[in-house]
Parts: sequence; C-alpha cells; structure tokens
Amino acid sequence: MKYSLFLAGNWQEPKHSKPLYSPYSGEWIADVPDADEEETAAAVDAACQAEKTAASIPAHERADILLKVANLIEENRETCARLIALEAAKPIKTARKEVARTIMTYRFSSEEARRMPTEFINMDAAPGGEDKTGFVLREPVGTVGAITPFNFPMNLVAHKVGPAIASGNCVVLKPAEQTPLSAFFIAELFSKAGAPEGILNVITGDGKIVGRKMVEDERVNMITFTGSKQTGLDIRSRAGLKNVTLELGSNAAAVIGEDADIEQAAEKLTAGAFAYQGQLCISVQRIFVHKSKSRELQRAMKKNVETYTPGSPLDEAADFSKLISPQETNRVKAWIDQAVKEGAKLITGGEVEDGILQLTLLRETERSMNVRCEEVFGPVAVIETFETWEEAVSLVNDSKYGLQTGVFTNRLDEALQAARSIESGSVLINEIPSFRLDHIPYGGVKDSGNGREGVKYAIDEMTERKLISIQA
Ligand code: NAD
Repeated sequence: MKYSLFLAGNWQEPKHSKPLYSPYSGEWIADVPDADEEETAAAVDAACQAEKTAASIPAHERADILLKVANLIEENRETCARLIALEAAKPIKTARKEVARTIMTYRFSSEEARRMPTEFINMDAAPGGEDKTGFVLREPVGTVGAITPFNFPMNLVAHKVGPAIASGNCVVLKPAEQTPLSAFFIAELFSKAGAPEGILNVITGDGKIVGRKMVEDERVNMITFTGSKQTGLDIRSRAGLKNVTLELGSNAAAVIGEDADIEQAAEKLTAGAFAYQGQLCISVQRIFVHKSKSRELQRAMKKNVETYTPGSPLDEAADFSKLISPQETNRVKAWIDQAVKEGAKLITGGEVEDGILQLTLLRETERSMNVRCEEVFGPVAVIETFETWEEAVSLVNDSKYGLQTGVFTNRLDEALQAARSIESGSVLINEIPSFRLDHIPYGGVKDSGNGREGVKYAIDEMTERKLISIQA
C-alpha cells in the first residue's frame, strides 16, 4: 500500500516516498511519504489556517469528536493492534493492551474538553484590587507540533493529539519513521469523526528534516515531544521561545524491601522489565533488593523469564520478539557483553537467537556500566543488593534520569522516606516503575525531561492563561 500525507483534511500525494519494512521479518509493508521541508511547511500552513476554527469549536463538540474517535478505535481494535504489531514488532497481546489504553486516553480527552480549567482570583487580596473581579481564561496556544517515538505508536500519539484538540488547538503530528501507519489510521478516524479540516495534520519523514523544520518554524507555538534525550536536547536548542515539553528516557529503578512478598514482586518486575522487549521509557532496568532476599528474587525472576515465549509479533503465543532494528539488537548485545567482560554475571539470557535478543538478567554490575547508568531500552535488567534503606534510596538516585520509581515495602516509614527522597516524577509504592494510567500526571525530572502528560496535565501545558479583570 502507498500512503499519502494528511494535510488540511485531505490525503495529499507526497513528492517522495520510502519503503517501510517489518522490523520482525524485514518484509516490505508499505510505501510512506518521506516529506521535505516544503511539505512540512505546508502541514504547518494547514494547521495555522485552521487555528481560528479550532479555537471556536464549542467544548461539547470537541468532546464529541474525541469520543467518536475513541469509539471508532474500539470498533477497529483488532485492526489497530495488528498495525502496531506489524510496524513496531510489538507482540500482539501487548499491542492489544496499547489499543485499550489509547481508547482510554481519547475518552479522558473527551471528558477534559468539557471541563477546561478556569480560576477565580480574589483581586482584593492585595491593596488596589478592591471592586475588581478577576478570573483566568485558558486559551489554546494555536498550533501544536507533536513529535512521537516508535514504542507506543498509538497511545503516545493519543497523549498529544487528544489533549491538544480537547483544548482547541490544531496539531501537526510527526510520528516516528518506523511507525507511521497507526498515525495515518488515526487521521482517517478523525476524518470519519467529523473533525474540521486542518485540525489534525500528519506528516512523515526524517526527524532531522521534518521534525527540525517543525521545531524551527515560528508559527508552531508549542512542541510536545516524546523520545530520546539526544533528540530532546536538539529540540531544546532549536525551539527558540516556543513552549517545549520533553518526555525523555530513563533507567528506571525498583527497590525491593526486606519484608516484600518476593513471588508477587518478581512477577511484576519480570513483566515490567521485559514487556515489549524492554523498549519502554519506564522499563524496569535497575533492581535493588535487600541482601537477605536477593537469591530468592533472582531465582523467582529467572523462573518467570523461562515461561516467556519468543516469536513473531503476530503470533498469539509470543511474549517477546525482535527489537526495533538489528542495529538496536547489536547495541544492546554489545552492552551486555561489555558488562560481562568487566565482571558482571549473567543470571539468564545474554544471547541472540534467530535475531531475537534473549531476556537478560545481570548481577554484580558496576555503576559505571552502560547496562546500569545509561538507558538500555532493551530486554535487560540488573539485580543488585543493599543493606540499609538509605543505601537503597541513594542507589536509586545515582542516575542522571528520574522518571518513575517502584518501591516494594510494607513499612510506612520506608515508604514515606522513599516518597520524599527519591528523585523522580513518580514514586509508586508496591508497584513497578512501568505502571502508568492515562490520567495520572506523568513526566520526569533530571534528564528524563520536563512538563507533564496525562490528558489534564498536558492541557495545562497546551494552553495559555489569560487574566481578565473587571472593575465594577
Ligand atoms: P527518537 O528521539 O529517536 O525519535 C523520536 C521522534 O523524534 C521521532 O519521530 C523522530 O523522527 C524525531 N526526531 C529525530 N530527530 C529529530 C530532530 N533532530 N528534531 C526533531 N525531531 C526529531 O526516539 P525513539 O528511538 O523513537 O524512541 C525511544 C526513546 O523515547 C527512548 O529514549 C524512550 O525512553 C523515549 N520515550 C519516552 C517516553 C516518556 O514518556 N518519557 C515514552 C516513550 C519513549
């Protein structure tokens, strides 16, 4: 199939196309537009021209459009899941979960459209404010440039498009090179749901051409980006004065206290470390367990790993599959080999079989090893020990990242100490760091980025506050 650009409500033949291959089989899937700067500018034009229309749609109509999109995804759940499995090599069982979450994200967006935040200001709290009535209006920023990664091609698009449209903005969406098909599918659903033309525009191509052009175009009022730290830095350096939110990576940690239920924790940790081959920004990567429970946890996780089945993403039995590219497989494998060469011990995994990297657990790693201090973004987790709770907290904080942290303990003092002292966007007690619901505030500190998503919180980032004061 040959895809076109989605601009101003129409499918527009691109100047150039590029073949898209399956990351699993290497087979051709489709030809997709490989847009240039001029086509990117045209997408921005289309959005800018629709700004007034978007801002003037009443909240209940914006809510209806978003609800219709959610319902259309629901009607096409299996098609959506298969698209994700095909273009991202996400096992179909995991892809179905992403589709279910995408539906939630658009439903939350629909609800939030009806309750755009407003604020009343007590003007007379300061001398000079007597007889004044003050309130704050929220206005859409105008055109939002949304740049998304490959790993959640539907739900991370939803986390940008949903809140942007809920709050009366127009969007230029640039999905990852490897995963454009689900973005085009969503454009089709917006069209079916009756979204006015130009409100959502989808443009595909090279990040360094299309993405950069969007970032540098002064007519784009805000960039909402999810992806790697390296790209985040590039965006930040080129964005000028526009609002930028950056949802970047991490090497998420989990702490397992002395009194934790190890079987239960191990089950969650295994799922959190290896769901979608570890290609999650909040994948469990660093596990710090109390010394007395280390052996038990290692055994339990190894046992769980052995029940995971590798295979084609479209195979119902598959729990994990290939990484997004052979280059990524080689990179992660090299990091494992390097760690082992420098003294780390393999608990399980470490090899590539039929192009699929085995689920890998390591112990006795050093803090300077890539598998520990960098974001692996692959099926690797390290298990290390601690003796005191202070030590556990300091091991977690020994990272340039800070997105989400999971802490397993039944002791209130330990839970509260972790909550107060751990440097990350969220601290989840008795839960893995990979846990996310689509309405909770979500985002990082340190090198994990800035700004928050989670529909209502994304709306906060995508609107400007305008104070109205009335003297009467
Ligand atoms: P990436 O940074 O390579 O690409 C993300 C997007 O940016 C793509 O659409 C790409 O085309 C575009 N891009 C590339 N160069 C650009 C440039 N110079 N200017 C503008 N846009 C550009 O990331 P990826 O490999 O697709 O995704 C993996 C990364 O995403 C990981 O680091 C992961 O942790 C992160 N991630 C973060 C979250 C979160 O919510 N914090 C969620 C998912 C993934």
